[in-house]
Amino acid sequence: MPLLPDGSEKGLRSHMEERGVRRRNGLAPAAGEVLRNAPYKRIATEEAWTFPELVKAQVAFFEHGGRADASLGMAGMFAAMPRLQDMLQDLGELRLAHMDEYGIDRQLLLLTAPGVQVLPEREGTAFARMANDLAAEACGRHPDRFSALAAFDPRDVAGSVKEIERAMSTLGLNGAVLNSHFQGHYLDEQAYWPILECLEAMDAALYIHPTAPFNAPHYQYRGFYGALGGFPHDVWVHTMGLIFSGAFDRFPKLRLVIGHLGECLPLHLYRFDWMQNNADGAPGLRGQAEPVVLKETVSSYFRNNIWVTTSGVGYEPAIRFCMEQLGPERVLYAMDYPYQQSSDEVAAYDRMDFSPEHKLMLMQGNAERVFNLPR
Ligand code: MN
Repeated sequence: MPLLPDGSEKGLRSHMEERGVRRRNGLAPAAGEVLRNAPYKRIATEEAWTFPELVKAQVAFFEHGGRADASLGMAGMFAAMPRLQDMLQDLGELRLAHMDEYGIDRQLLLLTAPGVQVLPEREGTAFARMANDLAAEACGRHPDRFSALAAFDPRDVAGSVKEIERAMSTLGLNGAVLNSHFQGHYLDEQAYWPILECLEAMDAALYIHPTAPFNAPHYQYRGFYGALGGFPHDVWVHTMGLIFSGAFDRFPKLRLVIGHLGECLPLHLYRFDWMQNNADGAPGLRGQAEPVVLKETVSSYFRNNIWVTTSGVGYEPAIRFCMEQLGPERVLYAMDYPYQQSSDEVAAYDRMDFSPEHKLMLMQGNAERVFNLPR
């Protein structure tokens, strides 16, 4: 069941380093030196953090009744990894030292999965406010190194709208993040559309980050409810749900960002368009509701409303494919600190054979534009 079998005694980094030796036979990047005077800034756009009060509340709820939610269970597992928690909870010296080591100029901070929406419903928004205040303080202390996305609890629709507005205007954050489903619910359900309306009105990009699927015994039994299966599948549902709900027709300026090179979705654009009629306009798919008829092809939403980051996939052929198919302006660099961190991987990005213009867009420019970052 663990995503990372160790993290308690030995420490996450040493564990990852040991495993890295074995992975040398796979597709993992060869050893390399990070360029210290690269002609681009490295802006990492899916970098995780959390804070002690939230971890404590997640663990307390897990132990008192929340056990049906595998996403909450994941918080309990991460909470038992002290080295991981040290890195997640630090918004100062330790994080900056690692960024310097890897040559990362700026991190975009995302409240890590599972976030606030696994807590008792009446508590979520208060923790989101706390998270956003803390993130804004960290950005204020290190304006050249940190930017952050706003957390919110979508179960509290009115509270989410208020908090996203506050985070974007008063706190000056750079978009919003949701760790995918909330007890098996998704933003494509129309009850949550005031949140989408607010995001569009505030010009706030929404990053949908993975979490463990809600009721996931079939994943857990096989050991891949995380990055190997459950994570990408859940964001797949969320993204395709938004497309087929007509959300991008109703909110044409809504901007969605998904990680891990689009959770494999870009590879399927041809088939999505081919098969679009299976769901598009088909009666009976949503109970008694009127069928939704989309204005565009599925692929066109990927080319107009969706951006992908490279978190965890420092793999040149796959990045090149996404740049070619979605457009070079739609692919953003991310590391996924502290879950996946490697100077060899950063060096591999430095070696990738893209034009200087496209490399600059990948590592820096696209992030600055999508998240309205300071230049
Ligand atoms: Mn991540």
